[in-house]
Amino acid sequence: MRRIYLDNNATTAIRPEVLEGLTPYLAEEYGNASSIHSFGQRARAGVERARAEVAALVGAQPKEIVFTSGGTESDNLAIFGVVGAAKLDQGGTKHVITSAIEHHAVLNACQHVERTGVDVTYVPVGSDGIVDPEDVRREIRPETVLITVMHANNELGTLQPIEEIGKIAREADVYFHSDAVQTAGKLPLDVRKLGVDLLSISGHKLHGPKGVGALYVHRGVHLEPLFYGGH
Ligand code: PLP
Repeated sequence: MRRIYLDNNATTAIRPEVLEGLTPYLAEEYGNASSIHSFGQRARAGVERARAEVAALVGAQPKEIVFTSGGTESDNLAIFGVVGAAKLDQGGTKHVITSAIEHHAVLNACQHVERTGVDVTYVPVGSDGIVDPEDVRREIRPETVLITVMHANNELGTLQPIEEIGKIAREADVYFHSDAVQTAGKLPLDVRKLGVDLLSISGHKLHGPKGVGALYVHRGVHLEPLFYGGH
């Protein structure tokens, strides 16, 4: 029987050209990209080429791309990173706004920060599965440190009005993160046009390998690290 795979929003097959591009780094180019000798420098050149390609996919500068282990880590780094680094001048309780239909990588991270004393508002969606940007605007407080709303929903396929929410976030001077795991590689993405400060993407959703993702971090956005180790 011929089997047909129809679950490409869950994961995709690695493309032959991706496998071909990756294989040398799993075999002969095994240097540590932080080593100063030629083995290391060749590995470093591969990392920087990949960083530039990912940056080009979303309209970012290469320095604004942080590699992660996937969409889950990108979402967690955005949320824990911003909340952890935020300082409230007037004191009070830090506040995050998200939507009720985020992926669990966002929802469970938000529920975790709630348990640490952060306030989280879950903005509902209409019967069309779309967030009303005015609902987001209404929920902004002086203590709001982050708005996180996904680009496309992984179950409904609905696209959220990211550009409008981006404008609202900018006017309020609040950081804005979007989970674009389901749109990267399917729709053109331009972080400046979308008005996001942080954007999550995942390799295995667009014919890349599993275990690789990226977070776009707009220059100047300070994140508390998830991990401590060599730079
Ligand atoms: N965000 C969305 C919208 C997703 O659909 C997924 C995967 O299903 C993730 C995040 C998590 O990505 P990953 O599997 O790379 O951790």
